Amino acid sequence: MIVARAVGGRAALILLTLLACNVKSTEPPALATAERLDAPRADVAPAPASPAPSAAEASPAPPPGVERVVLITLDGLRWQEVFAGSGVEGAAGGPPLMPNLHRLVAESGTILGGPGCEHDVRASGPNYVSLPGYMELFGGRPPAACRNNKCGQTKATTVLDEVRATSSAEDVAVFSSWSKYARAVTRIPHSFVVSSGARTANVRHLGDDAVLRAHLDEGAAHAGFPGWGDYRPDEHTGRAALRYLETVRPRLLVVGLGDADDYGHRGDPKGYRRAIGEADAFIADVDRAVSAIDAGGERRTAIVVTTDHGRERSLRHHGAGFPDSARVFVAAFGAGIARRGPTCATSPLRLGDVAGVVRALLRVGTDAPEGSLVAEVVAPPTNDAAGSNARMLAGPSL
Ligand SMILES: [Zn+2]
Repeated sequence: MIVARAVGGRAALILLTLLACNVKSTEPPALATAERLDAPRADVAPAPASPAPSAAEASPAPPPGVERVVLITLDGLRWQEVFAGSGVEGAAGGPPLMPNLHRLVAESGTILGGPGCEHDVRASGPNYVSLPGYMELFGGRPPAACRNNKCGQTKATTVLDEVRATSSAEDVAVFSSWSKYARAVTRIPHSFVVSSGARTANVRHLGDDAVLRAHLDEGAAHAGFPGWGDYRPDEHTGRAALRYLETVRPRLLVVGLGDADDYGHRGDPKGYRRAIGEADAFIADVDRAVSAIDAGGERRTAIVVTTDHGRERSLRHHGAGFPDSARVFVAAFGAGIARRGPTCATSPLRLGDVAGVVRALLRVGTDAPEGSLVAEVVAPPTNDAAGSNARMLAGPSL
């Protein structure tokens, strides 16, 4: 268990979100309706139990030295595009859509969910849409009562809530393009920094960072396309998140990008692929930022990249009627991450298992089983390169 960290002279920044009813494009656009996230501050409840079988029970203790995790979610990416051009056997050829991700994974990480494996990584569904997906991802298990994007605030303690319990308010931060994302990241709104969607409201402590303010204002001025309503384009979400990362250096930063999903729904494959490329460039920007933060020593930051669901081949749809959209991918690199490159899981993995990886990396005390993904992704105390290499698939060629 980690004790609460002192925040020193850092400017406290708590962005309280006004959740307009921005809808994912699986639903018809609706008029924005103000919905405050005004739940009372409460003690963080014990973590929910994970249904995942614990193949990781025998996994080693997490490595010391990980100070920070950046978790990036890329809404609605198919694994086929993630692995395209990567050189992994069974992946599509051609130029890679995510060259930076594969380069960084090859250097210091692991990616799961690609072709040719006995076991996939899957969202639990049964409706493969965003809000249930994010609730599973952050809650560590499928939500008990959320089947679509109309759900209210999660009632489950999330991994962000758990990290917040031993961190200051500004040490846990969320920047997302989609406003409803805020409903999945915490059961205790206002307990840490959340800037979800284009128009953040009720700014309690914005601090004196004029640059961050300008980024948020720019995002608000560009609300809408390629989403609808209060959607903030990824360009602006990413810019604000990077600024926050560089200046505040939070212990857990969660960034939710969504342009690819919306271009997919619009039936725009070029836009979808372009958005994936821009997300990949953002991943490289984050890596550069953490390199600067960790400069002069060993890496102290882990970066995890995943998605909330896949989608069907035409890109327009995902959900219960499209079983393929259950498949997701998980990539991680940097501090504390096993260097396995593109690899196959040794057991079926669930999207909710990502929460266990964040817990393990940040050494968050919890009663919840850590889940099978920890053993696949988190480095053992002594890095067994021979064992790791034996499990690597062909490639990548980048
Ligand atoms: Zn979607």
